[in-house]
Amino acid sequence: MNYRHDYHAGNFADVFKHIVLSRLIEYLKRKEKAFRVIDTHAGAGRYLLAPKDQRDTRGNPPEWVGGIGKLAGWKPQGEAAGLLAPYLGAVFGNGANQKALSEYPAEYPGSPLLAMELMRRQDRLTACELHPEAAGKLKTLFAGNYQARILTLDGWLVPGAHLPPKEKRGLLLIDPPFEDAADFGRMAEAALRAAKRWQGGSLAFWYPLKHPGPVARFKQMLRESGISDLVYLELEICKRETPPVLHGCGMILRHAPYVLEGEMAAILPQLAARLEAAKGQGRWRYERLTAE
Ligand code: SAM
Repeated sequence: MNYRHDYHAGNFADVFKHIVLSRLIEYLKRKEKAFRVIDTHAGAGRYLLAPKDQRDTRGNPPEWVGGIGKLAGWKPQGEAAGLLAPYLGAVFGNGANQKALSEYPAEYPGSPLLAMELMRRQDRLTACELHPEAAGKLKTLFAGNYQARILTLDGWLVPGAHLPPKEKRGLLLIDPPFEDAADFGRMAEAALRAAKRWQGGSLAFWYPLKHPGPVARFKQMLRESGISDLVYLELEICKRETPPVLHGCGMILRHAPYVLEGEMAAILPQLAARLEAAKGQGRWRYERLTAE
């Protein structure tokens, strides 16, 4: 387990995933009844971003510069402005962070902190993290918070053992490190278990667009899985390259809100244009995988 999310926090993939997460939570908030967000691979919860003029061994700036760094001062147009307000408000909420993001230092919230920022008093969070250092930070971050349950636990055990939550309503987010392609297989198994044990629960699974073969096989596995009501949405920010780079990412969703496709059609063209590495390279898609 060598993966450290600190190096990737706030990159384009985090921005995309967290925007989708924010829209799923906003939809759950339409009903008064409490819900639970279960984050199986939660990370440390909050990240201090590296100075923007820092360079890695290959001369690249920190990844957040090409992600949340491009959203500082952004004014999305039309319907997207209101739809992005919860996410942008949670990230840039206080003026100091807004200013700091164009300078240094600045923080970026991980998925459990973003979820907590958006949730109401009656809603609950379960966050699992296996890496001892990240789990320790997460526990400190949520110490004394009665709405949050933080577990140092293998997140892959959640779909088979911790579902459904007592609230019955809610969302299971699976966002593993993808240190190897085996995470695609684990994710397909997790989808099956979760769909069986929590029929009504929403599922959101993040995956990388880097090697096309495993992604195509993963989608095929899901098409043939018997799991109803799956869609995927993807964002690409640059062209495929050889050797392969992370040129985009996607999310598999179960029971996506009926409004989500329209919301993404409002948000993603503007987001793709904002995050693309070169003009015209940003692309997005929203497709159904299995019938409702
Ligand atoms: N969801 C986080 C966010 O959006 O801010 C980022 C998560 S990061 C991509 C993946 C995390 O999974 C890492 O913090 C890693 O330590 C953790 N991890 C790796 N294997 C795990 C496992 N089997 N169970 C739980 N956490 C695991």
